[in-house]
Amino acid sequence: MLRPLALALAVFLAAGPLSHSTAHAAEPLPDPAVLAQLRDAALQSNWAFSRLTDLTEGIGGRLSGSPQAEAAVAQVAAALRAENLKVTLDPVMVPHWVRGEERAELTAYPGQVAGFSQHLVLTTLGGSSATPPEGISAQVLVVTSLEDLQRKAPDVPGKIVLFNVPFDVHLEENGLAGRAYGQAAEGRFVGPAAAQRLGAVAALVRSVTGAAYRLPHTGATVTPKDQQAVPSAAITIEDAELISRLAARGPVTVHLVLTPQTLPDVASANVIAEIPGSDLKDEIVLVSGHLDSWDLAQGALDDGAGVTAAMGAIQIIAKLHLKPRRTIRFVAWMNEENGSRGMQGYTQAHRAEFERHVAVIESDLGAGRPLGIEGYLTAADAKRLGPVTQPLRVIGAGILTERLQPLGSDLGDLEDAGAPGFEPLVDARTYFDYHHTAADTLDKIDPENLRRQVAVLAVLTYYLADTPLALERMASRP
Ligand SMILES: [Zn+2]
Repeated sequence: MLRPLALALAVFLAAGPLSHSTAHAAEPLPDPAVLAQLRDAALQSNWAFSRLTDLTEGIGGRLSGSPQAEAAVAQVAAALRAENLKVTLDPVMVPHWVRGEERAELTAYPGQVAGFSQHLVLTTLGGSSATPPEGISAQVLVVTSLEDLQRKAPDVPGKIVLFNVPFDVHLEENGLAGRAYGQAAEGRFVGPAAAQRLGAVAALVRSVTGAAYRLPHTGATVTPKDQQAVPSAAITIEDAELISRLAARGPVTVHLVLTPQTLPDVASANVIAEIPGSDLKDEIVLVSGHLDSWDLAQGALDDGAGVTAAMGAIQIIAKLHLKPRRTIRFVAWMNEENGSRGMQGYTQAHRAEFERHVAVIESDLGAGRPLGIEGYLTAADAKRLGPVTQPLRVIGAGILTERLQPLGSDLGDLEDAGAPGFEPLVDARTYFDYHHTAADTLDKIDPENLRRQVAVLAVLTYYLADTPLALERMASRP
């Protein structure tokens, strides 16, 4: 046991002034037998899958501000209270955007048969504004990236801009689905507003996915504060490719009708549950998922699975009457999808505790088979945390990899304040096939993989809450 200690000391010396990190260095690591017990209990429990069933098939889609989102807050709070956990609701005001009518057709294009138009399959983007009720008609300008938009800036005024940004399936198939999404989603997040600034009357974006089943994928588009939102919708891969081919031959005109509404903000909440720690109870290990979802389906993968897996982790630790040294705090975040008000509200309410959040975890990449853990932490800490992987190896989830960038999303503010961020490392090769579509339903979840994810989160959460090691803060990392 000399090597880990020497390593810890070396890290501490490199880190600078004396902190509490050394105070616990000689104390024993979390008991491997307890970790194994936690893993096995999670693998035998159907509690998380039952909660996911209630959430998805009982409530359905949970877009912020909707009655379903409020029902989800009440349902999750009640389920955790029934497990004798201390539950609080942290109030937040959330946007209330409501989808309306959404339809579009190609009304003029090269080779058109007189009197015939082609129907497009589309879905309005969250945050889109409405067209007039009778819709708008305009010629389409196809761009393949934000740079391409800038190159074609003189042609933009009066057009409907189509962002035909491809999704890198090769990355997705090789374990980098999140990166593929990040690259392609840029067009959806900022493209419509950028097009409007150049004079576009509306924007269409190619659905951010590698799966071509003529299924549109919604998602948020972002409008800067000093700008009016532009009507914008996601079309399918097939329709984006069709329009691109037609537009290469000659002018293409689209008639577009979108009637979403932005209603006044609504009072909502993050749901918080805790297991108080013992001798280090002021220090917090946060484990979380987000409770809201898009409205097209049940939000089973995004993020019903993640939020119920995190619930399952705190539930199983409580059920086994384990008393880790630090406080474990579960958070079901509200409004991850279209505003991050849950995170902003948490930051306002808990800023004073931020330095005491020693590690933060969120699961938000579906319920594929877990392979281990990913963490935004120092390489030295990744080594020091080696023992947490030991009990997970027998279920094929014994990897601990170091991320080079923060996880962001709901954990963004906490990570900015220095807390190392973690997520389960899952097989996400099919996650973006269903993401933000009408097909994100409970049948996509393999209950066994959800149980494995609960095991990973429970072992990780308990380990971080009980370890004598103090992880290095990330805020000062170059
Ligand atoms: Zn999500």
